Amino acid sequence: MFGTGLLKGLGVTLKHFTETFIDDRRKEPSRYEGSIQVDERRRIIHQPISQEGLLTIQYPEERRLLPERFRYIPMLIWDTEAGEDRCTACGICAKVCPPQCIWIVRDSDESGKPITRPAEFYIDVAVCMSCSFCAEFCPFDAIKMNHDYELAVYDRYPQLVYDKEELTVPIEYYAALWPTQYAAEEAQRAKQKEEERRREEEKKKAAEAKAQAQTAGGESGVAKPKRSKEELEVLKAQAAAKAAARKGEEGGAETEDAEAAKRARLEELKRKAAEKAAQRKKESGE
Ligand code: SF4
Ligand code: SF4
Repeated sequence: MFGTGLLKGLGVTLKHFTETFIDDRRKEPSRYEGSIQVDERRRIIHQPISQEGLLTIQYPEERRLLPERFRYIPMLIWDTEAGEDRCTACGICAKVCPPQCIWIVRDSDESGKPITRPAEFYIDVAVCMSCSFCAEFCPFDAIKMNHDYELAVYDRYPQLVYDKEELTVPIEYYAALWPTQYAAEEAQRAKQKEEERRREEEKKKAAEAKAQAQTAGGESGVAKPKRSKEELEVLKAQAAAKAAARKGEEGGAETEDAEAAKRARLEELKRKAAEKAAQRKKESGE
């Protein structure tokens, strides 16, 4: 029938309107279920999928509860336990940032030698496109994505160029915004630490075993005597004299052999010459 769709649509609108009206009349409207009261005026609202009726949020007093994976601009992590920035100023995030809006200045010690800590760290948040590449590529879990999206200011520059101080947040803040990701990363860290500890222990044990074996005289079990410099010199001289004598003996034997061979050859030649002379005499009939 003509106009059925229109009537159906109006019916849905009327239903939502009525449900919203009924919900608003409740002492605790369902849209406040699971919400967080930040202070007297501010409340964070969790809108469940099952929410019926129209949902009007009285922003800025009321805000939506953001999903964990929501990301806006980056933040730098301050490791409360270690009492230092996690950032080592390696510069990877600045390299991978597509719009190139990160600047880092590495810190240095008194002698001017660079150290693994940023002296300055800037992000132009007006240029940042919230891609999260910096957070994904950081090998030290030092940069993460913040949920804070209320960045409106009167002047773009310098107010939207955040420095290290503005970017830095304690690790507890990150853990509250990204609980699942934080837990997974911490589990991974604990595993790596345990692995490192085990390797260190194995190395230490191997070094101890080696030291013990050396003390006991090495693998053969024969302790090498320790000699003074003078003793070593004497031993060296004795070894050299022995080597020279051996060489001399070998040389003498070689000379005798050569002379015997020479004599034998001469005797052979003499015998052949005598044979030939006898044969010639016979042929001439003398
Ligand atoms: S935030 Fe991470 S990737 Fe960027 S400089 Fe610091 S340690 Fe390197
Ligand atoms: S989120 Fe993307 S654009 Fe923003 S600073 Fe990180 S890498 Fe650059």
